[in-house]
Amino acid sequence: MSTAILPAPEQLKLDVMNAPQPDPAPREFKNLRREVTADSIAVLTFDRPDCAANIFDRATLEELNAHLDAIERDSTLRGVVLTSAKPGIFIAGADLHSLSTAPMNVLREMVEFGQRVFSRLAALPLPTAAAIHGACLGGGFEVCLACDFRFATPDKATKLGLPEVQLGILPAWGGSTRLPRLIGLPAALDLILASKTVGAKQALKLGLVDDLVPHESLLVVALSKVAKAGRKPRRSTPLAMKATNNAFAANLISMWTQPKLFKKTRGHYPAVLKALEVVTLGVGCSEERALKLEADAICQLAQTEAAKNLIRIFFLQERAKKLTFDAKTSGKPALASVAHATVIGAGVMGAGIAQWLAARGVSVMLRDINTDAVGRGMGTIAKLFADGVKRRTFTPVEARAAMDKISPVVELPSLRRADVIIEAAVERMDLKKDIFRKLEQLAGPDTILATNTSALSVTELAESLCASERVVGIHFFNPVHRMQLVEVIHTPRTDPEVTRRALKFVQAMGKLPVLVKDSPGFVVNRVLMPYLIEAARLFEAGAEVTDLDEAMLDFGMPMGPLRLVDEVGTDVSLHVAETLASHYYRRMAVPEVLSKLVKGGHLGRKSGEGFYRHQGKDASVGEAAKRYVKDDSAANFDRTALALRMVLLMVNEAARCVEEGIVSGPEDVDFAMIMGAGFAPFWGGPLRHADTLGLANVVRAMNEVVDEGETRFDPCGLLKDLAAKEGKFYPEKGVLL
Ligand code: NAD
Repeated sequence: MSTAILPAPEQLKLDVMNAPQPDPAPREFKNLRREVTADSIAVLTFDRPDCAANIFDRATLEELNAHLDAIERDSTLRGVVLTSAKPGIFIAGADLHSLSTAPMNVLREMVEFGQRVFSRLAALPLPTAAAIHGACLGGGFEVCLACDFRFATPDKATKLGLPEVQLGILPAWGGSTRLPRLIGLPAALDLILASKTVGAKQALKLGLVDDLVPHESLLVVALSKVAKAGRKPRRSTPLAMKATNNAFAANLISMWTQPKLFKKTRGHYPAVLKALEVVTLGVGCSEERALKLEADAICQLAQTEAAKNLIRIFFLQERAKKLTFDAKTSGKPALASVAHATVIGAGVMGAGIAQWLAARGVSVMLRDINTDAVGRGMGTIAKLFADGVKRRTFTPVEARAAMDKISPVVELPSLRRADVIIEAAVERMDLKKDIFRKLEQLAGPDTILATNTSALSVTELAESLCASERVVGIHFFNPVHRMQLVEVIHTPRTDPEVTRRALKFVQAMGKLPVLVKDSPGFVVNRVLMPYLIEAARLFEAGAEVTDLDEAMLDFGMPMGPLRLVDEVGTDVSLHVAETLASHYYRRMAVPEVLSKLVKGGHLGRKSGEGFYRHQGKDASVGEAAKRYVKDDSAANFDRTALALRMVLLMVNEAARCVEEGIVSGPEDVDFAMIMGAGFAPFWGGPLRHADTLGLANVVRAMNEVVDEGETRFDPCGLLKDLAAKEGKFYPEKGVLL
């Protein structure tokens, strides 16, 4: 025998390791229990111990797999029903924590194991059903797609969808394969590519579920459907679906959709294009082949920076929900929940805040200087509720009940019952001090006194009061009902217990807080302003409005900087810029174009012209601002050079926030900039982006501009130190992080 055909001993060892291993059986069932009804239907109940949510982790998959072993062995069974014991959640998705830190081979193994387990469920010779109440997302919905029937409750808590693309990956436990086979390719693409989550009614309309059933009879209906089905049902493909679910049509759809997606995402979201490819190719081939496409694609996407950054944002959101402040308590009773709030000022922000709080069950007293002003505020609130009813966020009854929780007033009565007072009057320190002096007289001893100021010193405001320890900043963003971020600002005088209660209040209101020590502009406006100022300065130096805005859209911002100035108002932008420039005058000088536009009455969208001329929703480059171009020193900069300058200044200011310790770390700044200013999320925030560029490169690029005489680009000490040490803001961890 020739030795050449004998595998080497080490090769033999490798082959044994690569041979398919039997799927592991769990030692005990902790997450999923199996009971059998008198009708011989197996009920599998997801109930993760000590947890409000069910998630699919390795252990749960193993348990499901082992239950399927037992079900396959039991010839007396007539069907299987999946349900959850959690009050408001079916299964929230896969365990992103373990997936994101797993090495690549473990990630692939986990994906393939999940596919095998769900395919076993789909292949059972018995009828199967999912009884869905609450969030049923990602892997949680994929397991339901492997069932023959799906029933859901019509409750608000019930939400179905495959949001993986939003995390930079794609549904890879059969979702990309089974969803188009269930509801047709176009509808499936619509859901998967946009990471859409739908409520129960919409789910029924789309065919994601077979019926809606009240919660109390959900399990009974699912059991009886399975019992009555008797045999595994055969779903025939409707004619309309046959027309789209084939290789030829899918290819056409893909060719038609791809350029549109590319234009929309500017190529920054590889998961969107990959999901389009996998879903469209998948409908034209066998299920087995389609699953392989899914698995290959997720492993490929998991290595992209975009996936790492988008998953990181998900974790930062989870962190914000649980954020707390280590308060050495002052002995004041902890605030169980906020029942009564007072909002001062019924303008854009005051009305928005009052509406948001009332919609969450808080009784709100809304105060402005006269009946007209307070009436306008109530009108704004009524419109917000009406829009919410149109979007089905509220039923008309819920909107009415919430509206009734708001009492408009001009004269303030005693505010001893108020748990929190939020001041949102005009941005003037003298006026705010006056207001707070009155408030401290009227408020109870434990009332939190909060200001929504954009950039004024919370410390200065607090110092003008006796009750300075109860003053915090609670800075909502505009529009309040859409922006999730709230900056909670504490001063050296703020009682830690007050800070802790303010954080809890923000969380209870469903917002995501970031905790900031008082400093001019806090985090978001402080980092955003140098960027907006630089855009205006480059405009004065001859750069075109379109080039400046397109440069940043190409970078991944949701709106160009000059368009943003127009939307916010040139007057408001000027005011914030001047406030910040008065503190950071060494590196921030307000460009004259801003004050000149304001003087000329060109206030942006609200006056019809700023950098742009606005007509309805449309905007074209305006003429007014062109008069204030000073020279042509930036006229020849290409879009990459323009974007680099604007981004470098954001990075520098973000690094300073960390250096000065106004936040707990780089993740706070990155999170705040993504959630509060729309900083391109796939870059992971300015500091994460700086890491990706390489800090030495960032510092070098800044120094090159400094050498041209532009000292505001001088890199801060922390950046220089990290660059010199080849350090990073974030050390690397797993495949996805
Ligand atoms: P606005 O001009 O729309 O509303 C201010 C309201 O305060 C007006 O209705 C005015 O009549 C009222 N007011 C004035 N003096 C008052 C007093 N003594 N008592 C009660 N009400 C009084 O302003 P806005 O945009 O809602 O901003 C309010 C605050 O929120 C400011 O501090 C601003 O910096 C901050 N802020 C604004 C935004 C934004 O985008 N507009 C975002 C975040 C924070």
